[in-house]
Amino acid sequence: MDEFIKLLDPSLNYIEHITKDKKCIITVESNRKDAICPYCGMASSKKHSMYKKEFQDLPIQDNQVIILIRNRKMFCINPECSHKTFSERFDFIQYKARKTERLIKKILGISSRLSSVAASTMLKSDTVEVSKSTICRMIKKNASGSR
Ligand SMILES: [Zn+2]
Repeated sequence: MDEFIKLLDPSLNYIEHITKDKKCIITVESNRKDAICPYCGMASSKKHSMYKKEFQDLPIQDNQVIILIRNRKMFCINPECSHKTFSERFDFIQYKARKTERLIKKILGISSRLSSVAASTMLKSDTVEVSKSTICRMIKKNASGSR
């Protein structure tokens, strides 16, 4: 399982997982010493707190995959920075997204060949939880180049 998590991002460590009702919930945490402040770009290793954040990733053997990250909130140590704290961010997911970039890519790939209704049905059979309206939103976002 750690290998699978490292494929998503080498800076993640696998902690534990449970499988229930065709769902695999994997708990992970960052192994980086420092996190980069997204507002000023300065690295900080001063931890403020931790909170849980969950998002969907590519399915594993017909199980829907939910990743639960113990996301770190850090203090920014730059006195010039406009923010005192920030949440650690990762390249594999946009800050407020509920799905990983590689899952979104898969959804968009399937949706480019099918209608959003058919794509939603097909993805559900492949244990990706996504609604027709979410697909429409993703396509629009992708087309406008904001991703
Ligand atoms: Zn900062």
